Amino acid sequence: AAPIPADLVDGLNAPQREAVEYRGEALLIIAGAGSGKTRVLTHRIAGLIATREAWPSQILAITFTNKAAAEMRERVGHLLGEAVEGMWISTFHSACVRILRREAERFGYPQGFTIYDSADSKALCKRIVKALEAESLGVSVSHALNRISALKNELIDPDGFARQADLSNPRDALVLEIYRQYQRELHRNRAFDFDDLIAQTVWLFRAHPEIAALYQRRFRHVLVDEYQDTNHAQYALIRELTRRAEPQHVPADTRIKLDDDGSIPPASLTVVGDSDQSIYAFRGADIRNITEFERDFPGAKVVLLEQNYRSTQNILDAANAVISQNFDRREKNLFTTAGTGAKIVGYTGYSAHDEAQFVADEIHKLHDSGTSFNDIAVFYRTNAQTRALEEILIRAAVPYRLIGGTKFYERAEVKDMIAYLMSIANPADELSVRRIINSPKRGIGPATETAISNFAEANDLTFREAMARADELGLGPKVRGAIADLVAALDRAEASIDPQRNTGAASVSQMLARLVSDVRYLETLRATGNPQDDARAENVEELISVAKEFDKQHPEGNLVDFLTEVALVAAADELDYEAGAVSLMTLHTAKGLEYQAVFLTGVEEALLPHKMSADEPGGLAEERRLFYVGITRARQVLHLSLAMSRTTFGESSVAMPSRFLNDIPDGLIEWRQSPGMPGAIGGARPGAVSFGRREPVERGLPAGRGLTREFKPTRDNQRFANRVTGAVRDNSELELATGDRVKHTDFGEGTVRAVLGAGPKRIAEIDFDEVGRKKLLIKIAPLEKL
Ligand code: ATP
Ligand code: MG
Repeated sequence: AAPIPADLVDGLNAPQREAVEYRGEALLIIAGAGSGKTRVLTHRIAGLIATREAWPSQILAITFTNKAAAEMRERVGHLLGEAVEGMWISTFHSACVRILRREAERFGYPQGFTIYDSADSKALCKRIVKALEAESLGVSVSHALNRISALKNELIDPDGFARQADLSNPRDALVLEIYRQYQRELHRNRAFDFDDLIAQTVWLFRAHPEIAALYQRRFRHVLVDEYQDTNHAQYALIRELTRRAEPQHVPADTRIKLDDDGSIPPASLTVVGDSDQSIYAFRGADIRNITEFERDFPGAKVVLLEQNYRSTQNILDAANAVISQNFDRREKNLFTTAGTGAKIVGYTGYSAHDEAQFVADEIHKLHDSGTSFNDIAVFYRTNAQTRALEEILIRAAVPYRLIGGTKFYERAEVKDMIAYLMSIANPADELSVRRIINSPKRGIGPATETAISNFAEANDLTFREAMARADELGLGPKVRGAIADLVAALDRAEASIDPQRNTGAASVSQMLARLVSDVRYLETLRATGNPQDDARAENVEELISVAKEFDKQHPEGNLVDFLTEVALVAAADELDYEAGAVSLMTLHTAKGLEYQAVFLTGVEEALLPHKMSADEPGGLAEERRLFYVGITRARQVLHLSLAMSRTTFGESSVAMPSRFLNDIPDGLIEWRQSPGMPGAIGGARPGAVSFGRREPVERGLPAGRGLTREFKPTRDNQRFANRVTGAVRDNSELELATGDRVKHTDFGEGTVRAVLGAGPKRIAEIDFDEVGRKKLLIKIAPLEKL
């Protein structure tokens, strides 16, 4: 083969270079965070292609997230100076989906089989657990799910479990029965859950060596990043892919070089990992996959990397101090030449909101001094922590992106509910009414919809008014009845919250709950027997609890306020400012990534280490590694923050600083706390530094995106508009520039300091003469240019 082009190895240190150049069956690269493991993988792939040792299609690289896969693909393309087609760079899950879809018909599945996400799996499991009354026997839904997942990760199917379980133990017997039914249901729906994707692929390969041989022939180079977090099923998959294909299984048209006996020699395997970053034991990841690599692959080459290229010395020292408290690990000798760097900043807030405000303030400071939003990340241990963060970031006009989170407001059923509410808040909103006219299914088809629409047009009515006069359309009695029921339900809901008609008007959540039952939304979902519909029903219930929370927090709030709140949160998902967006993610998702500035939030006992970890063997050590992973994501700036009190599941409790903070030497970190807080507690060292607080973004008017779209001045609109304080406007077209004088209904006159973003998402920073600096969403702010 041709030599590896110099630009692919120049700039690598000696062991990195050795790893890129090594040619042999098995290569293991072990090294600490930020030492260039992923970079070596990338250069290695580029080297294989550049030297023509491999076609792009002969490469299978496994990364931990889709994001990492996209990045690696781009880097390889960049290194080679051209985009490369046909290379598989993907996660275990997506590689398996591709294989399963290709081979689906061979095992009786349609190519378009369904993939159940975790909510779907949970809903399915819940149904089975309920039917078996398993909970009364001590098997909860989450217990069952965890057991099933663990079994699949160990490649144990129900029959296998039946053979090894102690079935005199009623709990295990029950788990077995649930597992059987769960698999039966999945099969009946031609669906796989996440764990299945891997396990089924392995089972497929084992049952059909001739299918396995297709992939053994194809992938001549298998490379796996984050190998420390592979579980048994993933390990088995790699073993299958890198196995020798026996002559009798070799496909006829094989053009690669066969061994003398006619078999296909094993593919070359490269794995990289760091046992200190193993954070998925709870999902069956097995550190032994890395520690025993040399035993599994005799003759494997092992390369160690010791120089960290990512972080400053301060950050690295903190990380080393934290991880060195774990015993039973191989001591590493990471060093950097990046210099000492800034001190780590610690912050103690008095509440989660206060902590979030600190994060938002510091993000603005970083951004003001030139750090791109894209280069900033906020990490948290649990998804429950995002609510407070999101709320404050939205108010502070910090553009952000939730990585790996389920976008609640994008789910169809949630959008349906919002459309119902919109139809009530704004009866003239045709789009919303049409969205829900046949949801849930009530037999109103597109022809009827068109008839209503034409009738409205001809008689100068809104769509909704036309619906109310559906009797005049000459429709069949069934459809007429369905329309009348819907109109009645909407009218009733509207009347119930109108303070002019009711002294004790219903709250938003009461109205919503009643409406949902009036239109039999949940009932219809639950009746289908499809577990995905159960998950949908749960989302609808979740929206009702969002409304309840809103009612609690805003006793004076009305439907429009609620919709505004929701619209702002939902819209934030779509914000794509030119300036980029801050990334929000869990610590688990953060693995492998790096950012200029990192905010690690909720560094408290019970969160980090998480309280569940106390019951798990090795749980505490794993939490420590998780903290280590978080710290080592930061290049230059690291903030560790916590709150003194935190509300979880509606209960507020006192939080204590994480024990892990004690392991960071004093000299590396500078502590701040919320202004006006009486002394620090626990391990968080005092030393209050006060700083100015930024004004949150003011919502100009209780009217959000969507609500303000397409207003036709009809009577209905007018009524609606009057209910909202003053006039409703859509200011998206308002031209504003720095220096303009403006007038705001509430804040008076002021001067525009800056305009950020574009289109309907523009934000104006305005210095008001009376009330000072405010940030306003231009689209909905009651602003006038003077
Ligand atoms: P992690 O354990 O967090 O996954 P890693 O070992 O995979 O880290 P990389 O992400 O590959 O580390 O590298 C960390 C950073 O250091 C990257 O920005 C990378 O480009 C840079 N880097 C790695 N090696 C070198 C080098 N020889 N010269 C310059 N920069 C390097
Ligand atoms: Mg990496």
